[in-house]
Amino acid sequence: MDLIVAGNRDDLAKARGTGSVALVPTMGALHEGHRSLIRAARVRADQVVVSIFVNPLQFGPNEDFSRYPRTFDADLDVCREEGVHVVFAPSPEDMYRPDRQVSVCAGEMGTIVEGASRPGHFDGVLTVVLKLFNLVRPEVAIFGQKDAQQLAVIRRMVADLDLAVEIVGAPTVREPDGLALSSRNRYLSARDRAVALALSRALRAGAAELTAGAIRSTARAVLDEAGPDLDLDYLALVDPATFKEVDDAYEGSAVLAVAARVGGTRLIDNVVLSLRH
Ligand code: AMP
Repeated sequence: MDLIVAGNRDDLAKARGTGSVALVPTMGALHEGHRSLIRAARVRADQVVVSIFVNPLQFGPNEDFSRYPRTFDADLDVCREEGVHVVFAPSPEDMYRPDRQVSVCAGEMGTIVEGASRPGHFDGVLTVVLKLFNLVRPEVAIFGQKDAQQLAVIRRMVADLDLAVEIVGAPTVREPDGLALSSRNRYLSARDRAVALALSRALRAGAAELTAGAIRSTARAVLDEAGPDLDLDYLALVDPATFKEVDDAYEGSAVLAVAARVGGTRLIDNVVLSLRH
């Protein structure tokens, strides 16, 4: 079956088939991580819709919206190879009315950890994701664990706003040396890339520890070893559902999350671990 490319909401409405739909929202510049989400979508529904939209609402004024990689033709090839049925690639004008007023607020969860560094980011994410849910009407939507806080705020939106869509989280795909795949990795020089490996190394080292204190200090020590070329934004050990820091008495699943700037590129990574006493 040929891939249908819907460049606006009217074409998307025409492309809708009769069976169940799984949605994979992306900003394009597709890589193996996105492919893994598409494969998870294919086994869960009759039709897979991939959205490709660099959402202006989720970028801050000093962030990389204008220089975010756009590789549309290569993205369509990836979607064809992976058996995607529909690519929805609207323009910002098609997505957002010039007089729009209403948006989704992520609440306190949108203001902590990643949200503290990127004010308004999660409001922008939730607004576009809710719009995509309304336009595509999927039964299921797949998101990467790579953006763990995004996954958590989306799950929270679905619960708090009673949305009828199942959210599936897919594991982070990494390079053999541990670097988490990201569309932004293409900005890294060979030297930056070597420095950036400290992120996944720190997470692995932290995950080998048993207590919250040891996890934090071990991961921190690995990041410190990377020297001044790694500009740490945060290292946080949080509850996966709320993204609040866990204390030493905490038991259960936790996320060790890190964000840092290497060269001019901001990178994030995380690992899920289990805390027991
Ligand atoms: P993006 O295009 O970066 O907005 O990402 C689109 C989706 O792909 C999000 O749900 C991300 O969490 C997911 N994603 C990005 N990188 C990876 C990765 N390395 N492994 C798995 N999923 C990923």
